[in-house]
Parts: sequence; C-alpha cells; structure tokens
Amino acid sequence: MVDLFIRGDTVVTPQGVGAYDIAIAGDKIVGVAASGSFPVPPGARVIDAVGKIVMPGGIDPHVHCKWHLPNPDGSAGLTEPPDVVSKAAVHGGTTTMIDFTRASLGSNVRDAIEKREQDWKGHCACDYAQHIMVEGALPVDLPGQIGEAIQAGYPTVKIFTTDITPSRKGRMVDFGDIWEIFRVLAAKQGLGVIHSEDNDIVMHMYAKLIREDRTGFENMAEVHNTLSEDISFRRVIRLAEKIKGTALYMMHVSAGTGVQAIREARSRGVPIYGESLHQYMLYTNEDYKRPNGQIYHTYPSLKSAEDHKELWAGTLDGAINCVATDEICCTLAKKLQGARIDDTTGGNAGVEPRVSLMYTEMVGKRGYSLSRYVDLVSTNAAKIMGLYPRKGALAAGSDADITVLDPADKRVITASRLHEADYTPWEGREMEAWPCLTVLRGKVVVENGEFKGSLEDGKWQHRKIADDIFTGARL
Ligand SMILES: [Zn+2]
Repeated sequence: MVDLFIRGDTVVTPQGVGAYDIAIAGDKIVGVAASGSFPVPPGARVIDAVGKIVMPGGIDPHVHCKWHLPNPDGSAGLTEPPDVVSKAAVHGGTTTMIDFTRASLGSNVRDAIEKREQDWKGHCACDYAQHIMVEGALPVDLPGQIGEAIQAGYPTVKIFTTDITPSRKGRMVDFGDIWEIFRVLAAKQGLGVIHSEDNDIVMHMYAKLIREDRTGFENMAEVHNTLSEDISFRRVIRLAEKIKGTALYMMHVSAGTGVQAIREARSRGVPIYGESLHQYMLYTNEDYKRPNGQIYHTYPSLKSAEDHKELWAGTLDGAINCVATDEICCTLAKKLQGARIDDTTGGNAGVEPRVSLMYTEMVGKRGYSLSRYVDLVSTNAAKIMGLYPRKGALAAGSDADITVLDPADKRVITASRLHEADYTPWEGREMEAWPCLTVLRGKVVVENGEFKGSLEDGKWQHRKIADDIFTGARL
C-alpha cells in the first residue's frame, strides 16, 4: 500500500529531470512515473512539491563523529557524537553519512566494528556506514581480517600515507603494508580510500618553518603543499597500477596537482575517483588570515585560487566525483584551540549546509545541471561506496530517501539557525534554496525545519562495491 505520494515538477531521477510522481510504500520507492500517469493512491499522504526540487537524500561519504579531539584544557575529548551530527544532517537534507572505524579500536577488526557500532546504533537520525581505518605498523594478520570485513559489508579501507603532523606519529602506513592491503582489496573487491600526502615533504616543511620561526597556521599551505599532493598521489597510483583490480578513492583532494594526477590516471584506465571538500573549493589559504581563520582549515590545507579552478574543472570532467565535509563537529573554542601549523584542529563543521551550499554554488552560481549537482552530493558517493541503487536514486526499488529543496527559501546561513556547532565556516552566505522536507526510508524526518525523526531511525548500511567501479566507471 502506498503511504506517501510526492508530486513534483522538478524531480531529479536517473532518467532525467522532470515532472514526476513518486509513490512510496513502507521504506521503499515503489514507483516513479510522469506526473498524472497513475492515480493518487487512496489513503496516501500527498505532498505537493511543485515549484520545488525533489532529489535523492544527500550522502556525505566523509565524516568523523565521536572522534578524539582534545579539550581546550588539554584533557582528552571527543567531537560531537552521531546523536548531534545526524540531526544536523537530516535538517540539511543529508540522509546517509559514512564515518570510520579504527581497526586498532578492538582486539581484531570484527571486535573494533562491534565496539564502534555501539556509538551509532540508537544514536543516529540518518542511515550510516563505516570505512575501516588502518593506521601505523599493521599487524601481520590484519590484511586477512580486512578481507573478512569487506565481505561483511565494510568494503572501504582508509589509509594514511603521512602522520599529518610531527606529533601524530602512528598514522602513516608504510608502502610495504599498503602493498599488502591493496592485494587484499583487489582480491576481495574492496576500495582504498586514501589520505595521500608525501610524508617526507610535509615533515621537511614542518622542520623548516619551525626553524624559521614561521609556525603560525596561516603558513599551512607551505607545509601541506601542492608538491606533496602531486608526488604522493602519483606514488599511490603507481602502486595501485601494479596490482590489477585495485580501485582508489582519493579523499579530500585539495590541490590542482591532485586533480591532474587523478585525471591522468583515469585516462590510462586506472579505476580512481576523487573527493574534494566544500571548504577546499570555496576558501583559499588567504582565508587563514581572517579573524578565527582556523575555522576554514582542515588537513591537508586550503590552497590557492588556481587550485580552485582545477577542483571545479574536476567536478565537470570526472576527476572529482564527490563533495564531502570531513565533518568534525565541535565548539568554536575547540576549533580555535591550536593556532600553529602543527596543532591546529582539523575537520570542519558543514554537514547541515552542504546540500544547500553546493546547490547554490553549482546550480545557482555556475549553471550546473541539477543532475550533475545531485551526482556530486549524493549519487556518485552511493555508486563509489557500494550503496547504489539502494541509495542515491529516485527509482522504483530504491530506499525512499528524499530531499525537497525550496528555492523560495533564500536564507542566510547563521550558526544559531543550524543544529551543528556554535560557529559555522559558512556564516553570512546567502543560499538559493534550503530543504523543506527530508524523508528517510519513507519516514518524514524533517518538515519545514521541524525534526520529526528519532535517533532510532538510522540503520547501518551493508555495502558492496559494484563491478563497474573496478573498471573506472565514468561518473
Ligand atoms: Zn577525515
């Protein structure tokens, strides 16, 4: 029986954008058809979305909830848990987030997964999944466990090629261990999700700037620089090319050199995909000099206007496939607690405004088609991360995760109106649309700004990477 019926004149479907009716029964979409071609089902709630934009719920493939982050007094602390971040997400039209489980959290990977699940189950208002994060010197039996995790529905493995800052020793995985992990990924259809920087160059620049007494965070782009991204991306790609079947997703691409490395690898047929972050595409290292300039930062670093050009070009030519947040939800005091190149808080608040902000920047300011925009904030993440077509599509058989954007709601972003933190890096930006309705698996969870969901609503999502991702699908 159809419970919910949405009629729109600008509905973004895999077939194109147009006037469609969407019929929803339980948690699934059961029909999408040209408006008026099937009768309004008796008993269904009818939502008139004419004049609005109807799209699949947003997917943020890169968030960090309940993540270690020291308190301003130096004591151990955590970022906001999914209880907070997921509510902000659904308010902003995002219905699925992918976070991280550290393999080192438990005595083995399965144990780590079970422990991490306790932070999420019953604590999340949207659907969620986890990448497996491996760090440091890997135990010899870890690759085998990764193979089991891939088959259990955790097919993405986060790997760092750098310790990021001199004080964070133990993040970087050496190339021998990465080689072993890639072999498992290739054999079991897993995907490497990579934080790629050249550790030698980064640590060299830390030492140099410390020696020169130029340790202010406004110099961050000199440390986490474009040369590092260039060399590191190409080194990781070269390794992947040597192990047939290895597919890569480069996280938080920040530089034109990174975009070029992905583009060139794709042209050789390497199955590689790129993610950028909203702040990397819209702020430069000049913004570090503004008051509270740390609020724009996440590692590696903001770059230049020239890099922006390449990042934006990548969203159109297929080198950049997803725009994520690298969400670290914390107070302004925590975000500002470090001001040096080696202690500034990474991550960024933004899960709530991301869908509207990207609509404004892509469709509003740059003339992107609605389909391309939806690819970049939802569909491509679903395809790459093994959620499609259950997520990321308005199609019969898909989960009824639906966001309705209202182009009449041209609000100006201000932290007090969001549900995230006591600051936002997007303060004062005028939006060209804002969600008036968010539906999670058939349930209206936010309507006209009012939260109607529950922290019991979110469900863990089993994922399996599709075959075409390993052959370099054009997205
Ligand atoms: Zn991250």
